[in-house]
Amino acid sequence: VSEVPELPEVETIRRIVSAKARGRRVISVTVHDPKFIQDLSAADFSARLTGKTLTDVARRGKYLVLTFAADAAAGPDAERCRLVAHLMMAGRLIVCPPGEPIVKHTHVVFGLDNGLELRYIDLRHFGRLALMDGGEAGTGRADATGAARAGRAGAGAAPRPAEPTLIRGLRALGVEPLSDDFTVVALSSLLARRKGRIKAVLLDQRLVAGIGNIYADEVLFMAGIHPRRTGDSLAPAEVKRLHGAIRAVLAQAIEHRGTTILTYVDGEGRRGEFAGLLQVYQKHGAACPRCGTAIVRAEVAGRGTHFCPRCQR
Ligand SMILES: [Zn+2]
Repeated sequence: VSEVPELPEVETIRRIVSAKARGRRVISVTVHDPKFIQDLSAADFSARLTGKTLTDVARRGKYLVLTFAADAAAGPDAERCRLVAHLMMAGRLIVCPPGEPIVKHTHVVFGLDNGLELRYIDLRHFGRLALMDGGEAGTGRADATGAARAGRAGAGAAPRPAEPTLIRGLRALGVEPLSDDFTVVALSSLLARRKGRIKAVLLDQRLVAGIGNIYADEVLFMAGIHPRRTGDSLAPAEVKRLHGAIRAVLAQAIEHRGTTILTYVDGEGRRGEFAGLLQVYQKHGAACPRCGTAIVRAEVAGRGTHFCPRCQR
């Protein structure tokens, strides 16, 4: 089973799409398969994006948020909308020349005014796209933890029209682990009274956004914490190590353009290089790089989990 993309892979795609397509105007939208667009017809989806300029490419957790404005020159008051994408198992966004053959499983193609095309491809058909209006408070930037805060603040307000599940998932996201908001104190209060396994806590997108099965295992190994420990059992020194490990593992993975497991290929068709740096993920039977004990694989929080029984207590 492919387990990516997680935060580092989505961030890699974000950087490539931003570098190649930001500032470009959409001159056409071709929807080959409307099932990938939530709660909107292909015609409406196309009508709302055609003619707009891609002004920002952001990421929240494992979600990509592309902002389109009616006229880039009109400033912050220009009509905006945001395209939210969750790549799930095997989705990807690539930017390529129009002559490039349309590969199988290409579901949406945006023609850009510089002649390039932004293409949404999904081999496993689990990913989804949705549009979110641009005028909403707190969603100004999607790297912005503001999106999550606005979501929570609005929870007690008047009922709003039903939103695509994708947008609701985005609003429910917890703290962005590489943001300034993710402090040791923040992590500590998040773990307090948390009776669930630490592995499950790390995978819960409503608590910390962007960590999946691969990076949860790597983080817990670096922190020397057993995946079956409960959140509330961690001593202050362990919380501090966990915080440092989350930051370090994710930053290092981004630097190496993510991990390659089966179907994941980044937006340039190049493979991530973090696979060579994995310490425990899918290394069961191999010697722990720290102590030499055999790495174990066990089911924790419903997921295949890899750890060193000696280093992780
Ligand atoms: Zn070990």
